Amino acid sequence: MKALVYHGPGQKAWEDVPDPTIVGAGDAIVRVDTTTICGTDLHILKGDVPAVQEGRILGHEAVGTIVEIGSAVQTLAVGDRVIVSCIKSCGHCANCKIGLYSHCLGDEGASGTGWVFGHLIDGTQAEYVRVPYAENSLHLLPPGVTDEEAVMLSDILPTGFEIGVQYGRVKPGDVVAVIGAGPVGLAAIATAGLYGAGIVIAIDTDLNRLEQARVFGATDVVVSGSPDWKKQVLALTDGAGVDVAIEAVGIPETFGIAIEVVRPGGNVANVGVHGKPVELHLENLWIQNINISMGLVNTNTTPMLLKLVAQKKIPADKLATHRFRLDQILEAYDTFSRAAETKALKVVIS
Ligand code: NAD
Ligand code: ZN
Repeated sequence: MKALVYHGPGQKAWEDVPDPTIVGAGDAIVRVDTTTICGTDLHILKGDVPAVQEGRILGHEAVGTIVEIGSAVQTLAVGDRVIVSCIKSCGHCANCKIGLYSHCLGDEGASGTGWVFGHLIDGTQAEYVRVPYAENSLHLLPPGVTDEEAVMLSDILPTGFEIGVQYGRVKPGDVVAVIGAGPVGLAAIATAGLYGAGIVIAIDTDLNRLEQARVFGATDVVVSGSPDWKKQVLALTDGAGVDVAIEAVGIPETFGIAIEVVRPGGNVANVGVHGKPVELHLENLWIQNINISMGLVNTNTTPMLLKLVAQKKIPADKLATHRFRLDQILEAYDTFSRAAETKALKVVIS
């Protein structure tokens, strides 16, 4: 089959690789009907994620059709249309039992951390993908949900919701600032209302992204780096600072913005993947009683979010801005990596 293979920092190729085969009895082989590109793929390609080894097939988001199942798979069948979660999880181990799917201890490997497709196991930017623990790692698609909507549930919708909104402990009436209105930040904006956020402020440098933020439910937008950006944010909170600051970029500067705008006793939820260390001034954070959370998405909310997408309560379809065929994936990467010029949100590859 053809797949997009990582060959070290800055290097990738669309090339022939062996077809995946069933390894464990719980596996499924999925034909990839639709995939997409994530900000994290760009981090990997920059070399920011050294755990990803040369030769790895990239990608962790997909919707597809099951073409083969292992002998232990009972709840799924060949021909089923499924969402591939960005992370494989057995559903039974000590970590999976508490919903920490991102730290599944399943015997797929010894480390027990981050079995994200396209990281430690081969990914979804390919014609086929092997999915371990298929019963827990795949989600059956109901009729009426399109591939384009569903592919947003592999990663970005659960990420924005779980690591941004849930870890940020958004409560009814809260003022929430989302720093970075890329697809992940937009997912946090689109789901902050599920816990009743009152005011949702999008902060970004890119005017197009701020315009998009309003489409996904931001009540206010602030241009990051504008001379009075902080004054604008504080004006929306009667000077107190925001209850919850969600960092969805992954650079020290934007983590700093989150710390600057949060009120004493507030929550900073870091979603961004930081390739570089960030300094924490613990004394300042301590004196302000700031809570900081962070982490890898678990995708344990995907079934719930899928219901909301099916009910058209989350505008997942609006995230898809550009479309490519699978054999045009290098072009898709180019478009996605120049989002400021191309105005791309998610590039859909089918
Ligand atoms: P993206 O690059 O498309 O979006 C980032 C946004 O940040 C852009 O709109 C950009 O204009 C904005 N930005 C850049 N510099 C800024 C600044 N100084 N101030 C304000 N805004 C600024 O990325 P994405 O796909 O939306 O992903 C966002 C982050 O989430 C990435 O770091 C990605 O790796 C991470 N991520 C984390 C998880 C997880 O499990 N925690 C999962 C998926 C993605
Ligand atoms: Zn597990």
